[in-house]
Amino acid sequence: MVTHERVAENVYSFQSEVYAQVNAGVIAGPSWAVVIDTLPFADETKAIRDFVEQELNVPVRYVINTHYHADHTWGNIFFPGAMIISSSLCRQLLDERGRPSLEQARSQSPNQFRNVDIVLPHLTFDDGEMGLRIGKKTLRLIHLPGHSADGIGVLIEEDRVLFSGDVFMPVPYIVDGDIEDMVNSLSHVASIGLENVIPGHGDIVLRGEIEGTIKENISYLTAIQRVVRKAARRRYPLDMLEQVKIAACGKSRVLLGGLAEELHRRNLIALYRHLFAEMPIGSEEWDYWEDEDEEPFEDEIFYDTDEEDEKRKVVVKSRASVAASSKAKESKKDEENDDEDEDDEDDRDEWEKEDIDPDDEKILESSELDDDDDETKEIP
Ligand SMILES: [Zn+2]
Repeated sequence: MVTHERVAENVYSFQSEVYAQVNAGVIAGPSWAVVIDTLPFADETKAIRDFVEQELNVPVRYVINTHYHADHTWGNIFFPGAMIISSSLCRQLLDERGRPSLEQARSQSPNQFRNVDIVLPHLTFDDGEMGLRIGKKTLRLIHLPGHSADGIGVLIEEDRVLFSGDVFMPVPYIVDGDIEDMVNSLSHVASIGLENVIPGHGDIVLRGEIEGTIKENISYLTAIQRVVRKAARRRYPLDMLEQVKIAACGKSRVLLGGLAEELHRRNLIALYRHLFAEMPIGSEEWDYWEDEDEEPFEDEIFYDTDEEDEKRKVVVKSRASVAASSKAKESKKDEENDDEDEDDEDDRDEWEKEDIDPDDEKILESSELDDDDDETKEIP
């Protein structure tokens, strides 16, 4: 149900087997323990609690939430004796967005969420960082925005181990976040000098892989910006956003148990909406248009229980955020003006010849988009 791994002395990571390889952590001291993030399903969160109480023989005194998303916070309620810690913004967002999200999830699968409630953090911090001493270890809670604005990481100083939250994961996911923040946070992580990073999702990243993975993530973020800007010059930008696969941006599609391609697709559309404050137009109705009328500013996870066989099915549902700034529109206009000497049709033909053949996915995944000389490696 949930697998755990010993990362360092008295430091453990836990990975969900049901939902998107999401990770949680435990640091145990002589008389109490700290939990970093909870897992999406009650059973898995309770398994962590049981491990701490029964195997490590200490109670959980603190739970740290790295950010407000459901898969990291909705298990707070299963630690009734613990003090919950987060950034102040995390507390605010969990209050404003987490509550309606849970209501909606509950209406869809009442059984799954019968015992779940939002528990807001008790202790929060704004700027700078927070320290927490446990046994002989010093935890430093540092701001790492990018996946979401409220993100923090937990650095175990003596072990050089970082629980990064979702700012660092196999496929960068920026639908509820900000690319520039993410690049800055990743660059900061690269500068710390770490033995291990436990990402918000996916396998532990070892010392020798950290720099390369960060480089790869940053080059992916650069690639998707390039794709979105090129798409914006097309008559039907959505067609291009739907056609440029994740492999063309330097990431493997098999990452995160096969979720990678879908996360990538949402990144592109969210980034387009963020930059140009409008939905990209397609020549035909792509599936995405079904979501058009939904509210913006949400990144939600719904859990569906199949009543028939009680087998849980997880649906990740994201809603791209809309930055309705006229400034963004202006910048698009400027770009269009810059390109006005180019013939739109020619531009399109040229792109299709060089980079994209809508009928051939292999060509779509060619490295044509990588006009940087970044070396990228496949993560198995
Ligand atoms: Zn997550």
